[in-house]
Amino acid sequence: MKALEVRKIKKTYSKWRHPVRALDGVSFDVEDGITVGLVGPNGAGKSTLIKIIVGFLKKDEGEINIKTSKPLGYVQEYPTFFDMSMENNLKYIGDLTGTSFDKVERLLKKFGLWDRKSAVPSQLSKGQTKRLAILRSIIHDPDILVMDEPFSGLDPSMAIDIRNMIQQLKDEGKTMLISSHNLLYLTPICDRVIFMSDGRILGEYTPKNTINLRVEYIGNIPDEMKNYIERDGLMVIEVSKEKVPEIIRKLVNEGVEIYQAKIEGLDTIYERLYAGDSHEKQIPNSY
Ligand code: ADP
Repeated sequence: MKALEVRKIKKTYSKWRHPVRALDGVSFDVEDGITVGLVGPNGAGKSTLIKIIVGFLKKDEGEINIKTSKPLGYVQEYPTFFDMSMENNLKYIGDLTGTSFDKVERLLKKFGLWDRKSAVPSQLSKGQTKRLAILRSIIHDPDILVMDEPFSGLDPSMAIDIRNMIQQLKDEGKTMLISSHNLLYLTPICDRVIFMSDGRILGEYTPKNTINLRVEYIGNIPDEMKNYIERDGLMVIEVSKEKVPEIIRKLVNEGVEIYQAKIEGLDTIYERLYAGDSHEKQIPNSY
């Protein structure tokens, strides 16, 4: 079942009376219970899209369909809090959303913040501030959580803490859309990664089910595999890992000479997608 539908979203800002196109027809779905990463360099349009999805910003065109009755949980990139203790910040939101104070206590304990409950936001580390922002977004037990750059500004150990926290929410069955330019932290928790650039979707990648096999070769590729040719001498084939020996065997049997065959990691895909004229480059099976 779909939890979220994003359809042909367009948005242009006006800066000093000059139009700045931030989104140019973005469409995708998020299925129930899965975690989708939104990846792209600065200026790709990720924040604009997220703000439109959560209703912080008006779209010019397109449609957002949210298939849940509960309000979305939203974790901002730069969250702000009231100048009161962490516990009271959460209780305040809890009160507004009809959540018991017991739950605030449970959440603080569960996510390792109970011993900092009396600290005010200015006394918190960046990692604790992000964790507080995530707790605030889940107080009302949303089905869908949307996070904008949850790892930004964090050192590796803090980022891993946040990733573990997100993993826990994923295990509880939350549907999540998470933007980040940090593939290292984002990828392990995502079921799907959507690549954006210049307000458009360049491609999509499913980290767990398939890999991209990059083959450098000389020879004639059989007809049924020709659509994998990236350019003369290079094929990129999206397959399940078990199929790799079979594909190599087939190519060799057809007389193709293989000079290199490697499984492409997400970082290589990222480099390939964003190098040069990125609009022309699509990863196989892109959206
Ligand atoms: P990302 O989150 O991927 O870094 P953004 O959504 O922040 O991308 O920005 C997309 C584009 O829109 C960029 O060119 C950015 O400069 C522009 N932009 C974002 N916010 C505004 C704004 N308030 N006014 C004018 N232009 C903006």
